[in-house]
Amino acid sequence: MPRPILATVHPEALRHNLDRLRRAAGDARVWAVVKADAYGHGIARVFDALRAADGFALLDLDEAARVRALGWRGPILLLEGVFDPRDLELCSRLDLWHVVHGDAQIDMLAAHKTQVPHRVFLKMNSGMNRLGFPAERFRAAWTRLDALPQVDEISLMTHFSDADGPKGIDAQMAVFQRVTEDLPGERSVANSAALLRHGHDAAVQGDWVRPGIALYGSAPDAPLHDAARWQLQPTMTLATRLIGLQSLAAGETVGYGSRFTAPQPMRIGIAACGYADGYPRHCDTGTPVLVDGVRTRLVGRVSMDMVAIDLSDVPQAAVGSEVVLWGRSAGGTVLPIDDVAAAAGTVGYELMCGVAPRVPRAEPTG
Ligand SMILES: *Cc1c(COP(=O)(O)O)cnc(C)c1O
Repeated sequence: MPRPILATVHPEALRHNLDRLRRAAGDARVWAVVKADAYGHGIARVFDALRAADGFALLDLDEAARVRALGWRGPILLLEGVFDPRDLELCSRLDLWHVVHGDAQIDMLAAHKTQVPHRVFLKMNSGMNRLGFPAERFRAAWTRLDALPQVDEISLMTHFSDADGPKGIDAQMAVFQRVTEDLPGERSVANSAALLRHGHDAAVQGDWVRPGIALYGSAPDAPLHDAARWQLQPTMTLATRLIGLQSLAAGETVGYGSRFTAPQPMRIGIAACGYADGYPRHCDTGTPVLVDGVRTRLVGRVSMDMVAIDLSDVPQAAVGSEVVLWGRSAGGTVLPIDDVAAAAGTVGYELMCGVAPRVPRAEPTG
């Protein structure tokens, strides 16, 4: 028998979340953001469930080719645009729309030989200070692009640094709107957090929204709000089984570094999942976990291949009992990935992207 760990993708939850986000988006079209191999879920595993989206947004050209190979004929957007002049040939061949965020990309376009002009999304740096043209140079970039025969329609976009937090999006929205006021073209500004928190504003909806994390059932503004608050369902379950049991006397310890000492006699279970599976080593005593659908806690350090679990509240647990690290138990109990992320001092994004290649994936059903 193989080691019992398994990552399962839930297509019906993906469909539900997409539907939920579409309702928040009003009349805007929805890019399903599937970068990082669909946030670790696997593009091929999410594709069917997300094909009701209006387009797929990602940044790896191989991933774009895979989406085309799956039969998608609609829009695909490269969120970081091209990295090299040869990438433009692939854009022409596969009809990929691409972000233009810097002068070098305009130079590449100007030198590109193509029969069919490209649809581009011109990106403004409205305050994130990562990619994009600063506000004062945005119109010049637009004018330059507009003059190129290689360019068809120009859409306008920006990305928020604080859509999930108290600073919010007002300052960046104001810059974007001031600079683009009288420019033609479709607009796209909202990631998951902006869409869920500020999407009642038609300008935030724009013409295209770009949700990623919320599609995958993690709250974009955790821990302030949880996924249930946004009516999002978990799309990935990381589950394993108990492979060992120990009975501790009071004063005995568990695991490397003896980081946990039993305060009274207690039973612990050993589950087949460790940091080599992508489960964070920063999780320590107290991190939530489900055993046979009952919420309990990790005790002691995460090892490479195993974790120890407090079975005080799960007296019936035995070798073979189901252990859910995050996601949904067989009985339907949910352990939000954001709760585990909080215990590890990180975000749901990192956990779902970090499931190790050695973890077998269940093929989605239904
Ligand atoms: C990743 C990304 C998104 C999606 O962000 P989420 O926070 O996952 O919703 C949207 N736009 C751009 C430009 C991105 O890089």
